[in-house]
Amino acid sequence: MIETDILIIGAGPTGLFTVFEAGLLKLKCHIIDGLPQPGGQLTELYPKKPIFDIPGFPSVGAGDLVDNLMEQIKQFQPGFTLNEVAETIDKLDDGTFIVTTNKGTKHHAKAVAIAAGLGSFEPRKPQLEKLSYYEDKGIEYFVKDPEVFRDKRVVIAGGGDSALDWTIYLADIAKEVSLVHRRNEFRGALDSVEKVQKLKDSGKIHLVTPAEVVDLKGDDTLDGVIIEREGEHEIIDCDYFIPLFGLTPKLGPIANWGLEIEKNAIKVNNALDYQTNIEGVYAIGDINTYPGKLKLILCGFHEATLMCQSVYNRLNPGKKYVLKYTTVSGINGFDGSRK
Ligand code: FAD
Repeated sequence: MIETDILIIGAGPTGLFTVFEAGLLKLKCHIIDGLPQPGGQLTELYPKKPIFDIPGFPSVGAGDLVDNLMEQIKQFQPGFTLNEVAETIDKLDDGTFIVTTNKGTKHHAKAVAIAAGLGSFEPRKPQLEKLSYYEDKGIEYFVKDPEVFRDKRVVIAGGGDSALDWTIYLADIAKEVSLVHRRNEFRGALDSVEKVQKLKDSGKIHLVTPAEVVDLKGDDTLDGVIIEREGEHEIIDCDYFIPLFGLTPKLGPIANWGLEIEKNAIKVNNALDYQTNIEGVYAIGDINTYPGKLKLILCGFHEATLMCQSVYNRLNPGKKYVLKYTTVSGINGFDGSRK
């Protein structure tokens, strides 16, 4: 059982910044995310895009902002349960919560902050008859640990950044990499397209375009894919097939937690503290809704800050917290003086 003060569901920018604000109040945080890495939409959907509306940063790359947030919260040593989706919540008689993931990991928390953004991202799956049979028997939708593919024959399908990036990365690890895409042109970054072309020219990977995986084969486990190229069928023998067709956000299991939901978002009390209809459960960032809501990173930061104050007051009834500036709190090497 993982014990924490605030259990944060979602490691997007809102969830990450919550750790900082909670840390200032000496509240310990643990974060769950269904994805293998932190950053939410910034990492998953637009890691290389510049963002122009973070106060104090005329321009910051989405990936860099996530790195900076991770650096900023390091001092408060948050725990992480990555690659697991928060599935159920149980409120105990003492007002605390047990949140269990799809892999059975249990977390015991005094408060729960749902910072689940657009919900859990689910992979877009190709329409192949035997797909579900081979899941976990050769089909993977995420590259969680590249070492799994060492010295294996891998077929990657897709035309975006993920497909290109993993083709480049696995070219040095796997025994054989084939990239299958239904067009000759790719949607990813130009630099990655050029790298893939060079890998093909040097014989390090097979580029199979325009082509589509139309069937799967193997007895117990996958041992090949069947592709269709210009009306002809061909077999590519492989140990792994990784379709990378993007991710679709879905509210997911949170929809069954008894929360008030409006248009796929959780209703909160925005006049006060972003608490939901379940006392002790808060919803912050893109996942919540209230009159005038804006789905912006800086709005999530603001909501996280107010929520942490509310959690502090709830856990320390009657104890007065005096708001200090971080320079006064003496963190991060500051000497506490106001300059
Ligand atoms: P998210 O970033 O969505 O993170 C939520 C996390 O929760 C995800 O990692 C998800 O896997 C996880 N999760 C969900 N459900 C579960 C569950 N049950 N169990 C475990 N984990 C779960 N905003 C700006 O301010 N400026 C911009 O320039 C800007 N540009 C954008 C460009 C694009 C293309 C897009 C799509 C959005 C842009 N936004 C921008 C919006 C911004 O990305 C969002 O406001 C921000 O990501 C919200 O952060 P969040 O932490 O609330 O949620």
